[in-house]
Amino acid sequence: MNHTTELVISATLDVREVFETQKNFAQKLRLSSVEERIAKLRRLEKQIMAYQDRICQAVFDDFRKHPTETLATEVFLVLSDIKHTISHLRKWTKPTKVGTPLPLFGTSSYIRHEPKGVCLIISPWNYPFQLAFSPLVSAIAAGNCAVIKPSEMTPNTSKVMANLVRETFAKEEIVLIEGGVETTTELLALPFNHIFFTGSPAVGKIVMAAAAKHLTSVTLELGGKSPVIIDETPDFELIAERLVWGKLVNNGQTCIAPDYVFVPKNKENELVAALEKAIQKLYNSSGKGIENEASYCRIVNARHFQRINQLIADSVEKGAKIAIGGKLDMNDRFISPTVLTDLKPDMNIMQEEIFGPVLPVLTYHHLSEALQFINENEKPLALYIFSKNQENIQHILDNTSAGGTTINDCMLHISNPDLPFGGVNNSGIGKTHGFYGFKEFSNERAVLRQKYRWTSVSMLYPPYTPKVRRLVDWLMRFF
Ligand code: NAD
Repeated sequence: MNHTTELVISATLDVREVFETQKNFAQKLRLSSVEERIAKLRRLEKQIMAYQDRICQAVFDDFRKHPTETLATEVFLVLSDIKHTISHLRKWTKPTKVGTPLPLFGTSSYIRHEPKGVCLIISPWNYPFQLAFSPLVSAIAAGNCAVIKPSEMTPNTSKVMANLVRETFAKEEIVLIEGGVETTTELLALPFNHIFFTGSPAVGKIVMAAAAKHLTSVTLELGGKSPVIIDETPDFELIAERLVWGKLVNNGQTCIAPDYVFVPKNKENELVAALEKAIQKLYNSSGKGIENEASYCRIVNARHFQRINQLIADSVEKGAKIAIGGKLDMNDRFISPTVLTDLKPDMNIMQEEIFGPVLPVLTYHHLSEALQFINENEKPLALYIFSKNQENIQHILDNTSAGGTTINDCMLHISNPDLPFGGVNNSGIGKTHGFYGFKEFSNERAVLRQKYRWTSVSMLYPPYTPKVRRLVDWLMRFF
């Protein structure tokens, strides 16, 4: 046996050992009271508060994200998840009474939310803290053990998160395992009770195929191209700022970032001019150049930089025009905010998720052209509508499908914990946040209680005499 084989085997043993330990502990944990779960969430909240500077520094070291943006888009969202969960958990865990149909007269029924057991949380690099800890909040609330596997692409944040988890929880309950594809593959071979995956649709399919071997339930929070439809009615200066913010926060590396925009042909120039003004206002107020602006973070690594570079080059080669930006610096992993026009559907940029600070602007003469284009492609994770015309808004909602929609702004639907968050088909399966996250990590157990001595159902037992038949006929009249 050579050294490499030994290492692989010992890694396999570790992962399996962790899983077996958690499996034993899950049996005890399922009896945990709401108060105990709330205490755990409070402990986590306290630790996150104590760790916030270290989290901000780590995310900065990974892709130069401004600490204020990390606090607002990562730490704050997890803390607000915890707060929302703590204030609703008693209600969510209460058995939910349901009605009783006529043939079951005399019985009573309820739904009991019980923990699924041992859950695997696989998270991506783009919001490395939030997307590992937000599902963890739901897993804890539902009474589960959890293994977290963060992305290998943001190693500084993974290290800090590993320390935070180690200091806060016993590993038989919650553990963070660092590693890349190999480690994830080992984990995916284990019979977890639930897998919560956030990442690309391509890897989502690998996860779902692995889960199918054990019939493990999955939540898949995926990505794709999220379109924006603008009609003739809005104030373009006002909406351009919202669009620029939505596109450039996290440098466009956001699952629900506006991917491309549809605008009426006669408003294209007005929109491009408004976008240019908004970019300068938000990201070059000092006049020193966007590359020197601390609020503008960087592409995560060289591979993603080259991917976006090629998307721009392919579109320009096929006839697209760079209306704004187009400045790239490989050494700094810097791509300036870029707006493209004159696009065609066969360009690569119109086929894959951009995940960077590049915004294609497409035009239409009639709204139906935009809707047809969107409906011919995969159902998006988010779809944005900018309009003052209620009829248009309703028409777009009625004639498209998406995981979520913000009207007259970008991305805000993700931050309301009372709304389910997730995709549809290619953009995801299952929902998260607040009660929907709790539900995803719970088994909704159906409980029906029969009267001990007498049961109405016995009137339907064999032998099937004419009297039983008359009773069945009578019951059928009620359906
Ligand atoms: P990714 O799919 O490449 O990686 C996600 C996770 O899967 C990582 O932990 C990674 O280590 C693991 N992984 C990668 N390849 C694997 C393989 N072959 N087998 C097993 N595991 C593997 O995604 P990413 O690049 O980290 O993140 C970007 C994608 O995630 C985008 O598509 C984005 O839209 C999506 N995303 C979705 C949401 C959401 O909430 N719906 C949020 C953030 C990101």
